Amino acid sequence: MAVVKEEPGLKLFMEHRVNSVDTKGAHVMSVTAQHVRTARRVKISGKLFADCTGDATVGFLAGADFEVSEEGSMGASNLWNVLDQADQKQVLKCECKDKDALSMLAEAGQVAAPFPRVPWALNLTDKPFPGRKGAKGQWANTPISNLGGWFWESGFDKDSIKEIELIRDLNMRAMYGAWDALKNVDGLYPNHRLGWSAFIAGKRESRRLMGDVVLKAEDFRKGTKWPDPAYPNSWHIDIHVPHPAFGKDLKGQEFISEATTGKEYQYKGPYWAPYRTLYSRNINNLFMAGRNISVDREAIGPVRVMRTCGMMGEVVGKAAWICVRHDVSPRGVYDQHLALLQKLMQQPGGMRRKNVEGSLELPTGAGVK
Ligand SMILES: Cc1cc2nc3c(=O)[nH]c(=O)nc-3n(C[C@H](O)[C@H](O)[C@H](O)COP(=O)(O)OP(=O)(O)OC[C@H]3O[C@@H](n4cnc5c(N)ncnc54)[C@H](O)[C@@H]3O)c2cc1C
Repeated sequence: MAVVKEEPGLKLFMEHRVNSVDTKGAHVMSVTAQHVRTARRVKISGKLFADCTGDATVGFLAGADFEVSEEGSMGASNLWNVLDQADQKQVLKCECKDKDALSMLAEAGQVAAPFPRVPWALNLTDKPFPGRKGAKGQWANTPISNLGGWFWESGFDKDSIKEIELIRDLNMRAMYGAWDALKNVDGLYPNHRLGWSAFIAGKRESRRLMGDVVLKAEDFRKGTKWPDPAYPNSWHIDIHVPHPAFGKDLKGQEFISEATTGKEYQYKGPYWAPYRTLYSRNINNLFMAGRNISVDREAIGPVRVMRTCGMMGEVVGKAAWICVRHDVSPRGVYDQHLALLQKLMQQPGGMRRKNVEGSLELPTGAGVK
């Protein structure tokens, strides 16, 4: 927030969701966002738009070409943890600040923390799950640190947009079911209690907007070279699938994933992906950055990690600067100003506050419009 506040020319609309888009031909003219608590609506007009919603909501509403996996997509997770009921520090920290939300600081305490049977939870009474005795997964820490991590993931064959609350509920039913089984069936962890749980599901996959290049996993494997390399990738082709050891009797309700591993999911990094994955092929003024960019179903595996997504945002910002300066579309940046984009991409982010024009060879007549 401090960084955002420092940024001149940036106006932030917190707690607003875009839920309608006005278009004229193949142009987005404005988006309308609604405040999630007051319901007040604000219409934001612009020359260029960037869809970084993860679900590609702006592009979808504007009629941009997109793809989505009907089934076999990656799921969503609600991370959760348990804590020592006897340790006031842990309890208070968690209740006041969510400070330790992602850590597993669990030690047995001196105070009993009984837990009821939960009839509406997933019934895991006789099912294996990570953290339960005898259940092995692809992670190997203490049993309790297997609870609530990234691999507690559901929704593989569900619609990650329309059914996300169902997926979130399934994650929570798995959490309560596991804790119920550990406490009341196995008789473990008498002095621990559930500490924290995310109530919004963290998504991995939904719609992908199609650009002039649709990057494929095959490109990563073959090391395809592009004339417009824009952002480096190094994470492997990591597509989560339901873990075969834990979902057998729970068709449609699988709640544990495994990451894809092995040679076919590796490539030589850093792999430079093309700029042309960052704008829509049929909506002329629409950029995209993040996990909703132009990739095929497998190539979302390497591109979706946080720093890679962040770098896409930087490139989009720089390309947008060129669009405004030279009155071109995102595609026009590739067609007419690729050399300039490449120069800009070599500059550190802080350059935007300086007079970049002086340090770059701009075509004659270029100026601020
Ligand atoms: C459990 C979990 C663990 C992960 N672990 C790692 C990890 O260790 N390392 C790593 O690098 N990556 C990790 N990832 C992947 C990575 O976090 C995501 O792929 C990445 O954050 C995607 O970023 P994004 O900005 O494209 O989308 P999102 O993070 O989904 O952000 C989209 C944003 O847009 C907002 N939004 C959505 N719709 C609208 C709308 N209509 N109007 C306005 N705003 C809207 C959302 O509220 C959200 O803030 C993990 C993902 C999950 C789910």
